[in-house]
Amino acid sequence: MSTLPPCPKCNSEYTYEDGQMLVCPECAHEWSANESAATAGESDKVIKDAVGNTLQDGDTVSVIKDLKVKGSSLVVKVGTKVKNIRLCDGDHDIDCKIDGIGAMKLKSEFVKKV
Ligand SMILES: [Zn+2]
Repeated sequence: MSTLPPCPKCNSEYTYEDGQMLVCPECAHEWSANESAATAGESDKVIKDAVGNTLQDGDTVSVIKDLKVKGSSLVVKVGTKVKNIRLCDGDHDIDCKIDGIGAMKLKSEFVKKV
């Protein structure tokens, strides 16, 4: 029932924690848990929409509340469909392009998967 990540070198599942470090008993590789999260190509962070659906790159979502576009007078209206989202890191975790507005970032908590 371990939730530790597999060894990044040999993929062994038998990693264990030694203080701040993770240790692989099979190839003796040691690494820090934080480091492995940062260097893994794909982060394990799961981004969910307002109702708990897991979002993925390429999903279509709809906006669940009017959102002001920072630095302009534009508003993304509730119900606006946003196609082909891209997940990213940060406070605003969705990168997208909206018709009539252009590229912008959204918060996953204000969208719902379509
Ligand atoms: Zn290993």
